This record gives sequence, C-alpha cells and structure tokens, in this order.
Amino acid sequence: MQDITCCPGETFEMSTELADIFGSIGREQGYDDIVAEFTPYKEFKSSWRRSGRSVRFQISDYMIGADRGVLEDFATSLYRRLDRGPCRSIYTPRLVTWLMSREFLAQNQALYLKRSRNLTLDHRGKVHDLQDAYLSLRDQGLVRDCPDAVFNWTRRRNRMRVGYCSVLMKVIAVSSILDQPSVPPFVSEYVLYHELLHIQDGLRPDRRHHGPEFRDREHIHPRWKESEEWLRRLAAQRA
Ligand SMILES: [Zn+2]
Repeated sequence: MQDITCCPGETFEMSTELADIFGSIGREQGYDDIVAEFTPYKEFKSSWRRSGRSVRFQISDYMIGADRGVLEDFATSLYRRLDRGPCRSIYTPRLVTWLMSREFLAQNQALYLKRSRNLTLDHRGKVHDLQDAYLSLRDQGLVRDCPDAVFNWTRRRNRMRVGYCSVLMKVIAVSSILDQPSVPPFVSEYVLYHELLHIQDGLRPDRRHHGPEFRDREHIHPRWKESEEWLRRLAAQRA
C-alpha cells in the first residue's frame, strides 16, 4: 500500500489545490482570509477556527488522494456547517463513493494502522485468532465476504469497550481482555460479528448505528445471549 508521507511532491501539489478550492468557495461565502491545510489526524476528521471573515481549516490528510470534485463537495459541506452549525450529514453521494472506494482504502488503510497505537496489528492473539473467527462467521452465513477488512487485538485490556471499528478504514479492534484461555472463543467471535455488521452497513450519515434493526441482526448470532453475559461479567470484574 502506498504511504502518503513518501510522496512529498504530491502532497504539496494537492495542498495547493486544497487551498485553492477552499479559498474560492469561501470567498463566495463572504470570507476573505482563508487557510486550508491537510493535517495528520489519526481519525478521519476536520476542524476549523473562525474569526470574523477569517477562517482556518485543518482537513484530514486522508483526503489527499481525492479528486477536485470530491474536495469541492467537501469544502461546500464544511462551509455549510460553519454557517448553520451541526447538520445531519456532510456527505454528498460523490464524497461517499470516494470514501467507500478501494482506492481510498489502498491509499489510507496502512497509514491509519500505523497511527493506531493501541493495536497489535495481528489477528492472532495469545489464545484466539480473529481470522479464524471471521472465517467461522462467514461459513455460518452470518457475514458477507469482507476481503479488505483487517482484524486486530488491542494492546490494552479494555473491559468496557470490548470492540470498535473504523468503517472508513475497514479496521476492527477487539479487546485483548477476550484473548485468554478462560474466555471461550465465541465471545470474541460475537464482538467481531458486531463490528463486521457496522462495516457491512457502511457510512450512516444518520448516525443511528445501534437501532432496533441492528439489534435484530446482532441477535441472529447463535450465541449472542451467552456472549452478552460473558461481556457483562468481564465488565463487572475488577482489573
Ligand atoms: Zn457498535
């Protein structure tokens, strides 16, 4: 996979384009002092500071490979948010297509993993293997093929947050608290299943990640009840 830090020439060129796009759209909105630059945030996020007719944007550097049209959509959406406050979605269809593309993943997944300090970068734990768990879920027909997803154990043994994922980067983390001989393999398999459902759902601009429909699908897993009980017990234990 390509590492964007290896291409300073390209970065510079794209940054010029970024400043150009944010500058021209911003001037149409009445701003006259505009700075927009790529920033190496770990997560895909952007921030801004506004003062009168000046505005400074810091844009996730995962957007570096986006084409001009996508950057224009992104800039327009951010200016809209700047004026009207939080809105339900800043994603246009063109932006979603880019963010969900294999090209986006090829450019950014390895970089995201490099920035993820809490991950072991290995699907094999000391006891359980998340790749085996994925294959089992797939063979049971519980999840679709997900060839780009990367499974990792966390370095920290978190009891409360036992799994999380980046839908954009197709990266799943499962807490290493579940990787011990006393915890049966179906528990980490169930957590992986939950995160795979999120990845299959893709971007949800409405942010309804755990609605009733999601819970119904979660409960298709044959051992969901036992797994939930295990997770409750582990959360209640003292470290
Ligand atoms: Zn969830």
